[in-house]
Amino acid sequence: MQPSEMFVGSIDQGTTSTRFLIFNRDGEPVASHQVEFGQIYPHPGWHEHDPLELVSSVETCIAGAVQSFESQGHARTSIACVGITNQRETTVVWDHETGEPLHNAIVWTDTRSQSIVSELKTRPGASHLQSLCGLPLSTYSSATKLLWMLEHVPKVKDAFDRGTLAFGTVDAWLVYRLNGGVAANVFVSDSTNASRTMFVNLETLQYDDALLDFFGIKGKIHLPRIVPSSDPSAYGVIASGVLAQVPIMGCLGDQSSALVGQKGFSPGMAKNTYGTGCFLLYNVGEKPVISKHGLLATVAYDFGGKPVYALEGSIAVAGSGVKFLQNNLSFFQDSKEVNDLALTVEDNGGCVFVTAFSGLFAPYWIDDAKGTIFGITQYTQKGHIARATLEATCFQTKAILDAMEKDSGKALSELAVDGGMSNSDLAMQTQADLISIPVYRPKMRETTALGAAIAAGLAVGMWRNFAELRDINRAGGAVFEPQISREESATKFGQWEKAVRMSRGWIG
Ligand code: ADP
Repeated sequence: MQPSEMFVGSIDQGTTSTRFLIFNRDGEPVASHQVEFGQIYPHPGWHEHDPLELVSSVETCIAGAVQSFESQGHARTSIACVGITNQRETTVVWDHETGEPLHNAIVWTDTRSQSIVSELKTRPGASHLQSLCGLPLSTYSSATKLLWMLEHVPKVKDAFDRGTLAFGTVDAWLVYRLNGGVAANVFVSDSTNASRTMFVNLETLQYDDALLDFFGIKGKIHLPRIVPSSDPSAYGVIASGVLAQVPIMGCLGDQSSALVGQKGFSPGMAKNTYGTGCFLLYNVGEKPVISKHGLLATVAYDFGGKPVYALEGSIAVAGSGVKFLQNNLSFFQDSKEVNDLALTVEDNGGCVFVTAFSGLFAPYWIDDAKGTIFGITQYTQKGHIARATLEATCFQTKAILDAMEKDSGKALSELAVDGGMSNSDLAMQTQADLISIPVYRPKMRETTALGAAIAAGLAVGMWRNFAELRDINRAGGAVFEPQISREESATKFGQWEKAVRMSRGWIG
C-alpha cells in the first residue's frame, strides 16, 4: 500500500470516555466513534474504572468507527495500523496466569493512598526518588495505588505471594487484552506511560532497582517490558473483531500524545490540554530537567532514537469542575453551556473557587487542600461560580507557567491548547489574559488521538519524518490575544494565591 492510500486508527482511552478515530495521511479524522463508560466512586476521594469495561469500550468504538468508515466507501484493509493513547497512572492489576483483573482500576485522580504517601515520605531514600524518576511522592503515581491494593485487597496480595501478580498502566492492559490476553501474552508498556509509575529511571527508561526496592516489589511482580512509543513489532496485533490482524504500532500516554499531536517537536514548545484534568507539557529536549519548582519531569516521546523529555504541570480538576457544576449542582445539562452561563455575568463577582477536589497538584502539591469557594455574598449568581470554575484552571496554568520559567530559564511565547474545556472561548480568553501571551487553539482539537496516530503512522511508514507532518492541522485555528494589562492580571492572580493558602487545613 502506498503511504497516501493508508489510514491509521487511534484508540483514545480517556478518563471519562473512549474514542476511536481513523485519520487519513493529511491528519484529518474521517470516521470516529465515542462512548462514555462507568465512573465508580466507592468513597469520597476514591475513583475506579472496570478494566473489562475499558476494553469493551475500545472494542465498541473500533466497531462503530469502522462501520462509519466503510459506509463512506473506504475499505477496512486500508487501515494500516493502530495507535493507542490513554489516561496515565491509572493502575490495573491482573493475574498473569489467567489474564483476569484482580480489582477495579484505580484512577489517577484517586487519593486513597494518602496515608501510604505520608508513611513513605518518612522512609530513608524518599528524598532521592524524584531525582531518579522525575516524580514526587504523591497519590498521583501508580506506585502508591499499587501499594494500597497490596495492603487492602486480599486477592491482590494472594497473587503477589504466589508470584502471579501482573501490574500495568492502561496502555499495557489494553495492548495485552487486544492481543488476546494470556494466549498471546504481549506484555509491554511505552516509555511515556511506564515513566509515570515511579518504577522507571528517567535517564535509562528502564526499571530501576533502587526504585523497585523502595516500593518493596523488586523481583516479586510481573512488570511490562518497556518499549519505544513508536515501534513496528513490539505491540503485537489486534486478535479479534473488525480490525483482527491489524498491527498496533504506536502508544503514548495521553499528554505526551497531545504534545505530539500539536507537533511540539522542538525544545521550547508547549501545549496545555484541558480535559478532565489539565496538563501542560513543555518540551525540554534530549535531557530531562528535574524541577525545583513543583513540576514533574517526564518523557515527551520516545520514537526509538534519543528520547525527548518534557517538564509537566498537572492540574487535577479542569473539565471535571465543569462536570461538577453540571452533575452535582445541576447548573446545566451539557458542559458546553458553561460558557454561556459564565457570560451571563461580567466577571466573577468577587468569587474565587479553589477546585481542590483531590488536593492541589502542580505546582502546589497540597494533599490536604479542599474545594473551597471564597467571596460568596447575596449578590452571587450561578454565572459567577461558573466563571470562577473556569478561572481556577486558568490560574493554576499561570502558576505552572511561572514555575516552568524558573526551571527552564525561558519564558513561553505562545501556548497551544486542546481538550474538551478548550472549546470554551471564554475560558481560553481568560487564559490568555492571565498569562499575558497568546493562546493558540487548532481547528481540529482531537490532538491527543492524532498524536497516537502519528506515533503509529511513523512506524508503518505512512509518514517518514517530522517534516512530512508539518502542514497537518495547521489551517483554521483560533488565536486568543491577551486583553488585560499585566498589572490587572497580577492582581487577580494575587487573590487566587491567597485563596489557595486559605483552602488548607479544613478537617471534615
Ligand atoms: P478526557 O479525555 O479527560 O475524558 P476531554 O478532552 O474529552 O477529556 O474533555 C472532557 C471534559 O471537557 C469534560 O470534563 C467536560 O466537562 C469538558 N468540556 C467539554 N466540552 C466543553 C465546553 N464546550 N466547555 C467547557 N468544558 C467542556
